[in-house]
Amino acid sequence: MSASSVIERVKTNLVSLKMPRALEILDVTLRGLERGEISALDAIDALLTEELTMRENRRIKMAVQMAKLSAIKTLAGFDFAFQPSLDKNRVLALAGLQFINRAEAVHLIGPPGTGKTHLSLALGVEAVKAGRSVYFSSLADIVASLAKAERDGALRERIRYYCRFALLIVDEIGYLPVTPGGGNLFFQLVNARYEKGAMILTSNRGFAEWGEIFGDSVVATALLDRLLHHAVVIQIEGSSYRLREHADLVPETIRHKTQATANPIPPTLKRRSRPPKDGGADHVDG
Ligand code: ADP
Ligand code: MG
Repeated sequence: MSASSVIERVKTNLVSLKMPRALEILDVTLRGLERGEISALDAIDALLTEELTMRENRRIKMAVQMAKLSAIKTLAGFDFAFQPSLDKNRVLALAGLQFINRAEAVHLIGPPGTGKTHLSLALGVEAVKAGRSVYFSSLADIVASLAKAERDGALRERIRYYCRFALLIVDEIGYLPVTPGGGNLFFQLVNARYEKGAMILTSNRGFAEWGEIFGDSVVATALLDRLLHHAVVIQIEGSSYRLREHADLVPETIRHKTQATANPIPPTLKRRSRPPKDGGADHVDG
């Protein structure tokens, strides 16, 4: 068989095997071989590695879309030096994803612009890369979706849907007051996931303000009871990354108003949990 007919067969086989990336780089790889620039082993390695890398990237891209991760953020792209109150090692430890296996709740608390959404997205991306199922949503969207499901008589199915994901990221607790009845619906979801699935929750408000946020102190206490048992609390006490170049333009009064409450755990819940030691990060486990 001539070399050219073998090459044709290799191409046909790559098509049959659905290896488009290997097919794409076949000619250039063969040229490298002919010129003695690469060995036969290098050539095989290049074809397989390129194909696998492309597949892996496609899988991650699909999974990121499925997870509704609103933007691709990475831990590598996070400037820890800008946020000295944040313990980098605690965040990197979370990227090991053991908290997902342990079905823990991770709380990221801090004023606007301190990187809560960025970090939650980055951890979501890490989880997706590791093949875990992830879903990202704001609290307002989750509550709206649960309320709609309830009106349609499909609340149970909707809760089951949210329970399918190994990691549920609930962003923006506290920016908007929860609609009436929303706290109760969210509690049903949290209760269904309790000790079964991990969550990341971001908030600009301390736990003591959850009664106000959810418009119901009984529901807030029940929520925190679940969400602080087996929990990691990471508090960021820095300034806004968004405003880093314009901090001098923001009035002092507004800067202070945006600070999260210093003591994030309400006294009623201290039986089960320890408050953060140093405003950094703390493991709250019962
Ligand atoms: P938050 O959710 O706490 O309000 P975000 O995570 O949305 O804040 O951060 C606001 C913007 O600033 C985003 O574009 C984010 O990627 C960026 N950002 C925040 N903190 C950092 C940081 N320490 N290093 C790099 N980018 C950051
Ligand atoms: Mg945010």
